[in-house]
Amino acid sequence: MNHSSSLDSKIKSFKSIEIFNLLPDEKLELLIRDSREIILNPGETLFREGDAGDAMYVILSGEIAIEKENTMIARKGRGNYFGEMTLIEDKPRSATIKAITKSRLLEIMKEQFLLHFASTPQALMSVLKTVSERARENLTALDQGMKILKAEKKLNANLQHLLDDTTNEIYIFDAESYHFISLNTSASKNLGYKKLEITELSLFDVIGNMTQENFEELVKPLQWDEVEEVVFNGHHRRKDGSSYPVEVRFKLQKTETPPVFVGIAQDISQLKELEEKNESLTFYDPLTGLPNKHLVLEKLNSELLKAKKANKSVAVLLMDLDNFKIINDSMGHDAGDTLLQAVAERLKDWSSPNWCVARFGGDEFIIILSDINNEVQAAETASSLLKLFKEPFIINGQKAYISLSIGISYYPLDGDDGRSLIKDADTAMYIAKDEGKNKYCHFSSDMETQAKNKLILESDLRKALEQNEFVLYYQPKLALDSETIIGFEALVRWNHPSRGLVPPLDFIPLAEKTKLIIPLGEWVLRTACKQMKIWLDMGLAIQNIAVNLSACQFSQPDLVSMIRNILEETGIHPENLDLEITESVLMDNAESAAIQLRQLSVIGIKLSIDDFGTGYSSLSYLNRFPLNNLKIDRTFVKDITCEEDAPLAKAIVNMAKALGLKTIAEGVETEVQKEVLRSIGCDFIQGYLLSKPVPAEEATKLLSSSK
Ligand code: C2E
Ligand code: MG
Ligand code: MG
Repeated sequence: MNHSSSLDSKIKSFKSIEIFNLLPDEKLELLIRDSREIILNPGETLFREGDAGDAMYVILSGEIAIEKENTMIARKGRGNYFGEMTLIEDKPRSATIKAITKSRLLEIMKEQFLLHFASTPQALMSVLKTVSERARENLTALDQGMKILKAEKKLNANLQHLLDDTTNEIYIFDAESYHFISLNTSASKNLGYKKLEITELSLFDVIGNMTQENFEELVKPLQWDEVEEVVFNGHHRRKDGSSYPVEVRFKLQKTETPPVFVGIAQDISQLKELEEKNESLTFYDPLTGLPNKHLVLEKLNSELLKAKKANKSVAVLLMDLDNFKIINDSMGHDAGDTLLQAVAERLKDWSSPNWCVARFGGDEFIIILSDINNEVQAAETASSLLKLFKEPFIINGQKAYISLSIGISYYPLDGDDGRSLIKDADTAMYIAKDEGKNKYCHFSSDMETQAKNKLILESDLRKALEQNEFVLYYQPKLALDSETIIGFEALVRWNHPSRGLVPPLDFIPLAEKTKLIIPLGEWVLRTACKQMKIWLDMGLAIQNIAVNLSACQFSQPDLVSMIRNILEETGIHPENLDLEITESVLMDNAESAAIQLRQLSVIGIKLSIDDFGTGYSSLSYLNRFPLNNLKIDRTFVKDITCEEDAPLAKAIVNMAKALGLKTIAEGVETEVQKEVLRSIGCDFIQGYLLSKPVPAEEATKLLSSSK
């Protein structure tokens, strides 16, 4: 009875379930007896996708999830029923059934289920209606799930397509085992692995210099969703053992099951090559292949570090080719380049392998002598360098003689950082040039002040002409026969705003070097001629004004016309102008100077050789130029105390007479000198005995009071 009353209550509660409510009690009673009840705890699975079975289920209580490929596609509660197999598009598709909450189910074998319902047609109608309704719902849910899955699959196919299209190398590997899952064609080609072969390998078989630990550290931000990708620079190892540089961007695909890493690698070999090429351009001189100034500075600094530790010395030899410009200008730039290459070769062959020989720029080379013991060693090296260049270079089949000016600086004496040592060597090199080239000079601190002063002077000099800071002083010349002033030598002075009167020897060489002598010389000439005109207009007895011309003024192609113009402009006669030139004008640019001198002489301008006897021993040139006077240099005059003291002065006077030239003795300071000069037949004198060079007004007074 107990049993039948429990059956009765079951029937009652089953009748409240839609599909059973049209079934007569006895049918329901049989169905309940032919079925079994199942209790599922949350998470428990009733059956899995693909399980074959032949039952119908009715949920009596609780909730059930229907999943397809891990995605829940439907949720069912009390009163729902379902079969474990479903047909979609004519194909059996199974699903997984899991309890969401504690659930009580009734399992009825499909055969009994259909049997009991078949015998009650009105119930069957209701069942069919509900079944079809439920089936439709389930199918829609399943269909939707399938659509999502299909889309996902399509995405993967698209991704694969994308991978194979790109030039980047892309590979996918398992996020736990790091084993490769797949790779694209580019990666397969460059790595040399077939797509199947690679699945045998893990990331660390392919990527160089990377341990699992390093990799896990690298991808932490991906695991923590901090970034979308991480970048790694390293190498890929090919199947054949070779390797190439890569930049790899790693991404983590957590949505994949199991999660995977995607590596997108770019072969950066070409980039690296370019970088190296760039580096070689930044550090090597393309013409000579020698290290350039950037590299030499780096080397010097590293040698200095070593020397500091080992208590050793380092010397910097900076050298400049003395006459490179001439060769470059006269033989052409290609010849200049060939010469620089030949110089580089000679230096390389000669130097010891642990020195650094570099091209510092233009025609400047540098040698770093590391590991030397003292300055003497540096000097000896410089001296043998000078000897090395005694041999001519053969350029385009022609011999070219090249000398060097070398500046030496020395660690620890002159400084301890590369840049300042090079600067010091440069300063010393300029002094070597100044002192006549083809020599070496050690740096000293007063050179620096000297060089600095020179720089300041140079910039001041450029402004001096515009600012009218030059003045002319005049020194009289006396005719020994008549004892009258026959003229003056115009001598330039620089009235420097802060230094006061600067003597010409302090700035003329600089003006020559900077070519400022060209405008300055013109100014002197014009000013002297104007003054001459004033004296002539005053009716004073004056024969000529002497003006000094520098050798480099003869490089001016329009020198003659410039002089002619000034004469016209100031209105003085060519015979009133005496140009003083030194022997070097005649020797250095003999041919072009000869033409210009001849033109000047033809007009009637007087020409004097200044400082005669100090320059060249050869006198043969005197014949070849149209000269008027020889100025006997002060050195032949200053020691004269009696006639016996003056054999050289006498010889010059005699020779001049033989050549038909007049003589002027310079630097006459005493009466004795004057008398001796007179006695040996000298024509004119000039010197402090008469007057120091004086400003124009004083010169005017001297002239007026002259007999
Ligand atoms: P210089 O042409 O041989 O000029 C003679 C120099 O000897 C002058 O020096 C003069 O002051 C100096 N002197 C004259 N008499 C005596 C004497 O009795 N004793 C001593 N100890 N010295 C005497 P300054 O004026 O200093 O000129 C030096 C040089 O500067 C000149 O030598 C000349 O080569 C150059 N110079 C001067 N003015 C000019 C110029 O306008 N143009 C060029 N190109 N050079 C100039
Ligand atoms: Mg002179
Ligand atoms: Mg002189």
